[in-house]
Amino acid sequence: MTRVYNFGAGPAALPEEVLQIAKEELLDWNKQGMSIVEVSHRSKAFQELMQEAEQDLRALLNISQDYSVLFLAGPTRAQFSMVPLNLMGNKGKAAYIDTGIWSHMALEEAHKYGEASLVCSGESSRYTSVPERNTWNVDTDAAYCHYCANETINGVEFHEIPEVGNLPLVADVTSTLLSRPLDVNRFGLLYAGSQKNIGPSGLVVVIVRKDLLGKALPITPQAFDYRLQDENQSLLYTPTTFACYMAGLVFKWLKAQGGLKAMAERNQRKAEMLYAAIDNSDFYHNPVDPRYRSWMNIPFTLADQNLEETFLKEARLAHLVELKGHRYVGGMRASIYNAMPEEGVEALVHFMKAFERKNG
Ligand SMILES: *Cc1c(COP(=O)(O)O)cnc(C)c1O
Repeated sequence: MTRVYNFGAGPAALPEEVLQIAKEELLDWNKQGMSIVEVSHRSKAFQELMQEAEQDLRALLNISQDYSVLFLAGPTRAQFSMVPLNLMGNKGKAAYIDTGIWSHMALEEAHKYGEASLVCSGESSRYTSVPERNTWNVDTDAAYCHYCANETINGVEFHEIPEVGNLPLVADVTSTLLSRPLDVNRFGLLYAGSQKNIGPSGLVVVIVRKDLLGKALPITPQAFDYRLQDENQSLLYTPTTFACYMAGLVFKWLKAQGGLKAMAERNQRKAEMLYAAIDNSDFYHNPVDPRYRSWMNIPFTLADQNLEETFLKEARLAHLVELKGHRYVGGMRASIYNAMPEEGVEALVHFMKAFERKNG
């Protein structure tokens, strides 16, 4: 069997070492005589798994006891509703930064629960950049300010945490969490769906400052109430047990790699290698403002759109898969999360150069 290099945006590649462990443990996990997917979420063994996963995540991100860590069930976009339901409180309004498909969707959803005021929008640049800070309009009376740290589809990433005064900052970090160190203390709430950089789909990790809990609107569904999940150690409902288990293995793998600083160095090298290949050619093009280029998701176009299908077909033969861009933006996209080794990016660059020589 040949393992391919999977450049998919999500579900995405997982570390091979992690998959090996899961394979070895599948029939008999933790001497239970059964698989992890058969074990009760109320069992002592499973609860220990959850505690260990939380401790490892806290260690990786240096999360203080002022924050709760919740392991919730997906979809990730349920957070677009859960955040306003839980945090808008009696202020009834929140501020939204619009830098791409995902943050725009979060903004639209928030309108259902109160006033969602626009801080700024990158729409006029077709989401290839972030409006300059001095043009932003932050409503200082809002309950929080929401942004997306890495727009997975557009390839637009904030390399610094935006400055929004005293408002609790809420970030969708689905496609960037754990790719580099992050100062959690700067945030009111962080959320990340698992299928990009954490594990299999189904799990959403929420890190929330405890003093923000307990303000949920009365219409908040029980299953969507952060405080209830906090009080129940994320066991209010049956958690996504397999995804939690896999995420726990990924956290251990990250620690063994040297933690998030080591991952950041590796991820930066990978991204620079691919952007250099794109920028040094007239055949490939990335439209994003260099100040906001994502380390994780790199969209690019070919000089001749008619070659796209050939590109994808030949890439597949070279074991490079899932390079088709999102249907909203077209072209190609290479997602190079933590689990993509440097050799995978080298193989892609090598393929791109050969393809250009043949067709450019
Ligand atoms: C993938 C993604 C989502 C949505 O994930 P679903 O689980 O499909 O709802 C939201 N935000 C970001 C940044 C994403 O990358």
